[in-house]
Amino acid sequence: VPDALLDELLELLRIPSVSAGPAADAAALRRAAEWVCERVVAAGGEAGLVETGGAPLAVGELRARRPGAPTVLVYGHYDVQDPGPLDAWTTPPFEPDVRDGRVYARGAADDKGGFLPLLHVACELARAGDLPVHVRILIDGEEETGGDSAGRWIEADERGADVAVVFDSLMVDERTPALTIATRGIVVASVEVRTAERDLHSGLYGGAVLNAAHVLTRMLAEVVPGADGRPRPELAAGASAPAPEERATWAALPAGRDVIEAVGGRPVAPGAAEELYERTGASASVDVNEIAVGEPRTIVPAYARATVSVRLAPGQRSGEVAPALERLLRSAAPAGADVSIRLDRAEPAAFDPRDPALVLAAGALERACGAAPALVRIGGSLPVLAALAARGIPTACSGFVLGEDAFHAPDESFRLEALAAGERAARELYGAFARLA
Ligand SMILES: [Zn+2]
Repeated sequence: VPDALLDELLELLRIPSVSAGPAADAAALRRAAEWVCERVVAAGGEAGLVETGGAPLAVGELRARRPGAPTVLVYGHYDVQDPGPLDAWTTPPFEPDVRDGRVYARGAADDKGGFLPLLHVACELARAGDLPVHVRILIDGEEETGGDSAGRWIEADERGADVAVVFDSLMVDERTPALTIATRGIVVASVEVRTAERDLHSGLYGGAVLNAAHVLTRMLAEVVPGADGRPRPELAAGASAPAPEERATWAALPAGRDVIEAVGGRPVAPGAAEELYERTGASASVDVNEIAVGEPRTIVPAYARATVSVRLAPGQRSGEVAPALERLLRSAAPAGADVSIRLDRAEPAAFDPRDPALVLAAGALERACGAAPALVRIGGSLPVLAALAARGIPTACSGFVLGEDAFHAPDESFRLEALAAGERAARELYGAFARLA
């Protein structure tokens, strides 16, 4: 690892930019954002804070050595998770310690060690007058709290970019990088049912009055998946099939059976484990997340609530699935029940692995890591990727984190080799993207 890069990382890691939980620190968040801007300005670029009401965005730009060069947008986040109980840490979370080939500190892997190489290399090339692309910097301070300021900034940004790079995700294993080319969206329904002013005596009224538990369970029965785990067609429609190029790289991923076994889960149906990547990346899924109703005594419950969510596959639109979900839920509710349903939603994101920018990105990652990246889909949602996809900006979403790095846990660390790989990858990516013009 270049000394200057490691020194910068240690400096950034000393800023306790926690965005949520007991250790949340608004002043430190601002300091981290300013730190990012100072790097850009010191390299001859322009940068400033964009206020969001919460932690500011650090937004900047470094110009290429030649006009007309393609524009690369770099996204990362400077905010970190709460460190949790300090006595669970071998060394204090904001006093970074280098040992056993790793940097230990909160944020080392997620995401300071992730985005910093992209910033560092762009600054270094700019100072040398050698930057082959325009680099725009967008570093978020609300990622860990689910804020969407960065997404809104991307939506409103008039200039856009030819390609975006995000280093905030995992490798398949120590040798194999990944390119995240799709994430699922989500529709979350918070359902409330009221059938009386208060709970009623089941001996006096049972059989004659509406029971909120019965109403709710019938409503949920309309939307829970079949025994095969597949959602009903109304909720699954519109999913687009993965490209053959994608499927071919899934062979590099760990077997679905092992992944499920490692977390103590049980396959929903025979064969489902073997279809893990298909089911969590390219299909919709429905889960009842919570049910709350009643008490262990002889009442007719008057109130019940549940949360049920549909993960949307790339190709589906939340604007179509949300009303379908509401319609199915309401169809099973009797007229006498008061039903309220709140719907929250986020769009899926998908990038075409055959897009020239992503073909260049895959080549650059292969040169940096020595192995071609697997093209992976993430079953969760990443609002920033959805915003970039909506703007039609092909995005190379990758990173060098491994599960063993304990991000979001005590003793978070990042391998020095991962930092070095990030540095090589940043160099290769900027060089490759110069050919986009
Ligand atoms: Zn992160």
